[in-house]
Amino acid sequence: MPEVIIVGAGLAGINCALYLQGRGLDVQLVEAADRVGGRVRTDSVEGFQLDRGFQVLQTSYREAQKTLDFSALQLRHFEAGAVVRVDGRFHSLADPRRAPSKIMSTLFAPVGTLRDKLRVLELVSRLVTEHTGNLLNAPERTTLQALHDSSFSPLIIERFFRPFLGGIFLEEELETSSRKFEFVMRTFALGRAALPAHGMEEIPKQIASKLPANSIMVNARVRRLTGNTVELENGTVMRARAVVIATDVSSAAVLLGLPERRPWNGTACLYYAAEKPPMEEPVLVLNGEGPGSPINNLCVLSNVAPEYAPPGASLISVTLHANATRNVLLDTDLRMQLRQWFGSQTREWRELGRYVIPRALPSQKVSDGGLQVEPPQVRPGVYAAGDYMDSGSINGALRSGRKAAEAVLEDLKAS
Ligand SMILES: Cc1cc2nc3c(=O)[nH]c(=O)nc-3n(C[C@H](O)[C@H](O)[C@H](O)COP(=O)(O)OP(=O)(O)OC[C@H]3O[C@@H](n4cnc5c(N)ncnc54)[C@H](O)[C@@H]3O)c2cc1C
Repeated sequence: MPEVIIVGAGLAGINCALYLQGRGLDVQLVEAADRVGGRVRTDSVEGFQLDRGFQVLQTSYREAQKTLDFSALQLRHFEAGAVVRVDGRFHSLADPRRAPSKIMSTLFAPVGTLRDKLRVLELVSRLVTEHTGNLLNAPERTTLQALHDSSFSPLIIERFFRPFLGGIFLEEELETSSRKFEFVMRTFALGRAALPAHGMEEIPKQIASKLPANSIMVNARVRRLTGNTVELENGTVMRARAVVIATDVSSAAVLLGLPERRPWNGTACLYYAAEKPPMEEPVLVLNGEGPGSPINNLCVLSNVAPEYAPPGASLISVTLHANATRNVLLDTDLRMQLRQWFGSQTREWRELGRYVIPRALPSQKVSDGGLQVEPPQVRPGVYAAGDYMDSGSINGALRSGRKAAEAVLEDLKAS
């Protein structure tokens, strides 16, 4: 009998396992899917790496720094800043502290007033000196309210913050907690967005590779939790001194017998193969033209990580506005927008994959409960971990897994 059963081998579950195993406990991970990783997985298609939805690792994530070997992941970095499509043209926006050569284009980009750009600098200068714990416990309001309270103009909100934050929160009303807004701005200011050379799934694989192979059971869905006993769908019954439910928020509610706590924010991502890249920079392109058109953001991933495409080819990701997936004219509208942005070359782009992910991120809108860092113990012997208990991110999932492990260790020591 293992000392601890962990249900779910996403980032929260495997980090919990790594921590407990490192302190000498016998752990059994039980995962419903055919491999570890949860929402961080990558499909290999014709030599292209397709992450299941565009996502990035931030090098400033504290928990990721503690857990991961960045150099073994062979991180490939995005250029700091973004390119924003506005008024039929692309405009570069960069942090002048990191890209002094882009200071003029940043100042003159029609993406906000000069005062707005100075306010962004003021905001990030304040946030970089704050401790993450303080940001995640600060008084909460919606992000939109926080932007209004900081006197940002409607121009910068519509052309920069809405597409930028909308692509991170996966909702563009900007009703997500201001705690997450501040966490995100701090994260971007302190580090770089990056991709592991061989796909985002290398992140969970790296953690899992440090665990004994027999401690991970895949294709094993848990259907019931009773006390400290779990029952798999195939009828197997397992018991342990402690059980950690490290699933997504909806599955946790079912297993723990609690009401569903939060709705989901969804997204959709399409991947295209091209013979030649439509631009050279390893940078995120934001759509500042408003939510009337399908694209939220676009990236030539092979400019960031050449390993994402086979030699001589380019890989382009297009992430859609959350509401665009409901548009029946999507394909026509999307092709038209791509053609407006990059011209007739887009006719040759070949769709490689399309991921529609209704359950991408647990909503952390203020009206859905905001962002609460939750204690891991649910009841004696039963604990929970997952991104919904922290900042709704890779960092939050890792951190909640570690915190659940610490709570288990303390309780087992005391008993
Ligand atoms: C498209 C997309 C883009 C994102 N972009 C970013 C980004 O750029 N940066 C960032 O930091 N974060 C991003 N995120 C968020 C990040 O990926 C997640 O917050 C994190 O991976 C969640 O990890 P988790 O362990 O909490 O949950 P999950 O990854 O959902 O893991 C839960 C695991 O539990 C398993 N499970 C569920 N029910 C059962 C059961 N009954 N029995 C056994 N196993 C079960 C599931 O199969 C799964 O493997 C993005 C997410 C998505 C989907």
